[in-house]
Amino acid sequence: MLNLILLGPPGAGKGTQAELLIEKYKIPHISTGDIFRAAIKEGTKLGQEAKRYLDEGKLVPDEIVVGIVKERLSLDDCKAGFLLDGFPRTIPQAEALSSFLDPAGRSITAVINIEVNFDILTARLTGRRVCRNCAAVYHLVTKKEKVAGVCDHCGGEIYQRADDTEETVKKRLEVYQAQTEPLIKYYSEKGLLLTFDGEASIASVFEQITTALEAK
Ligand code: AMP
Repeated sequence: MLNLILLGPPGAGKGTQAELLIEKYKIPHISTGDIFRAAIKEGTKLGQEAKRYLDEGKLVPDEIVVGIVKERLSLDDCKAGFLLDGFPRTIPQAEALSSFLDPAGRSITAVINIEVNFDILTARLTGRRVCRNCAAVYHLVTKKEKVAGVCDHCGGEIYQRADDTEETVKKRLEVYQAQTEPLIKYYSEKGLLLTFDGEASIASVFEQITTALEAK
């Protein structure tokens, strides 16, 4: 059973590694960012509430995010493992997560922490493009789709996330440093942290992650 958390700044490659990990381990991918973007696209109440936070690169309040993840993790497909991507993002979110996993006798297997220098993150994020339908990740320079504007996987439309503009990226990296980075120490003290150099190639990062997980 693998109950995994992907940790790292925006642009570290969490989404890309998540796609590979869920394929290999057959566990559900729970990306809180994808959940919010889908809700915004569908115009649900959650979407209307979350939109202003995403647009400004700020975090959605903990109470909202925690409720969503709690409900999602209670579904049957998570019983044999899960991959959390973009959650937890604050210490209170991490504490809430253990408050609903612990009583159920469930625990986190490992926290995969991907590190990348901030200049590289900015270049990655501002060049990033995403499929509107399946959320597959592309890049203007380093990972182009085969047919311009069309997702290789599902044929969906490829677009630039509103929060991948230069100004919002700067804000998101500041938010990461202030609110999410403390989780590195938090999970390291629990002996759960596995850290990887996210500047290596996609294949190499993936290989290092799977090797480390198999040694756990
Ligand atoms: P991401 O796709 O993970 O970069 O998330 C995009 C945006 O969704 C973030 O900038 C936040 O506004 C919001 N978001 C995603 N996950 C969380 C979370 N765990 N806590 C608060 N806000 C979140």
